[in-house]
Amino acid sequence: MKLDVDALRYLSREDFRVLTAVEMGMRNHEIVPSELIDRIACLKHGGTYKVLKNLLKHKLVHHDSSKYDGFRLTYLGYDFLAIKTLVNRGVFVSVGRQIGVGKESDIFEVATEDGTIYAMKLHRLGRTSFRAVKSKRDYLRHRKSFNWLYLSRLAALKEFAFMKALGEHGFPVPNAVDCNRHCIIMSLVQGYPLVQVKELQNQDVVFQTILGLVVRLAEHGLIHCDFNEFNIMIDDDENITMIDFPQMVSVSHRNAQMYFDRDVEGVYKFFRRRFSHSGEDYQENGHETDSESEENERPSFSSVAKSAGFLDRELAASGFTRRDQEQIESFIEGSESEDGSISAEEIEDVNSMSSLRLTDMQDNTVSNGEDGAKDDVLCSVSESSALDCNNDDSDPKVSTNEDGEVSEDDTGDAVLERRLLKQRRRAVAAAQGAKKAISSRNSYKEKGGKSSQSNSKAIRQACKW
Ligand code: ADP
Ligand code: MG
Repeated sequence: MKLDVDALRYLSREDFRVLTAVEMGMRNHEIVPSELIDRIACLKHGGTYKVLKNLLKHKLVHHDSSKYDGFRLTYLGYDFLAIKTLVNRGVFVSVGRQIGVGKESDIFEVATEDGTIYAMKLHRLGRTSFRAVKSKRDYLRHRKSFNWLYLSRLAALKEFAFMKALGEHGFPVPNAVDCNRHCIIMSLVQGYPLVQVKELQNQDVVFQTILGLVVRLAEHGLIHCDFNEFNIMIDDDENITMIDFPQMVSVSHRNAQMYFDRDVEGVYKFFRRRFSHSGEDYQENGHETDSESEENERPSFSSVAKSAGFLDRELAASGFTRRDQEQIESFIEGSESEDGSISAEEIEDVNSMSSLRLTDMQDNTVSNGEDGAKDDVLCSVSESSALDCNNDDSDPKVSTNEDGEVSEDDTGDAVLERRLLKQRRRAVAAAQGAKKAISSRNSYKEKGGKSSQSNSKAIRQACKW
């Protein structure tokens, strides 16, 4: 899926306000009724409908009138919200060429003000068929339906937390820079996926390094679960970097052994096929094994000294604890709500809708639009946190955090949602070395005001613009 960020320059403050309103509505609605979007956005008479037309033109929302008149975000719309938030935070200033297409993501180069190039990964859960995703991804198991928006965000949060924790433990992974919604910013790996490599100078060393990573991960209590030639990057000096962590599980997972064996087998299979490598040279902990057969040398799940506490101890600092992960899993497994779920066909429809042309880095400056495209989403969204303008109890009482992400206060998921937001903030703060102070989710509250929902003055203020 290509990403044309040109339109970002021409989107106004109102456009983003309505786009955010659609995002908010999607917490409770698969298709957000137009009237609800209008109520959440609180634009002047008829303003919302005009803006929706513009968003539709840019394929940021999808119109659906099959059951009632309503809209939902496309992936492109979700991309824009994340990109704008990150640009406003000063994480990067422009989006460049696409450098990777994963099974469930798109990877682009982005540039910072000082010219540093990072990789931006936009998660796209649901790109592969629903069944394939469901059987593959642990967090989708037993779930009959899912909300791609929520799950893509969850995948990004999980990957970001893991990337950060693994990096801190000396694993060769990209440096985790920041994340928002379904988007991760990380350092750019110099090199190419192993699958593209036809020849190696030091075949045995590379083989041992890669296999050693699977073992070391298990020693830290983790299994990659998708450890293959597509997720291993190698540079000209044959240094290895592993990528792609949203599917990682703990060694205490019920299928841990199977996942571990599959990761190990993947490495053997690839080296055998590509380099006719026998795999007999694997040395555990640097000691040459003199076993006769490959099977005897092969790392086995039972022989690895596993430390199952890694997730608990280490990821806590990144905001993604083992307990949280279990809660999220059980939430997903237990949630069979029809709300917020869409079918595989609809997801494909969403995906195909947001395919636009790619432009060059120089032409893609996201910010600095004369039309106010650099309006602060953080600011505008915290203003909009008291948007339940007509006090209609049937509407979701939506609120947003400082990054423009939505939370809902009228469902049983609210507590979990708040925890997720808190985790994400902690993860980002930790990754940024706690450079920025973490502000309250409600800027009005911070200034000493009362709860946004109960304070009519705050509501009036929010509705002013
Ligand atoms: P998916 O989860 O969809 O498989 P990946 O994280 O594996 O996505 O990324 C897909 C591709 O994007 C990789 O094979 C690689 O070519 C490229 N890529 C991903 N992350 C980076 C990075 N940090 N630096 C350079 N290229 C990357
Ligand atoms: Mg991958």
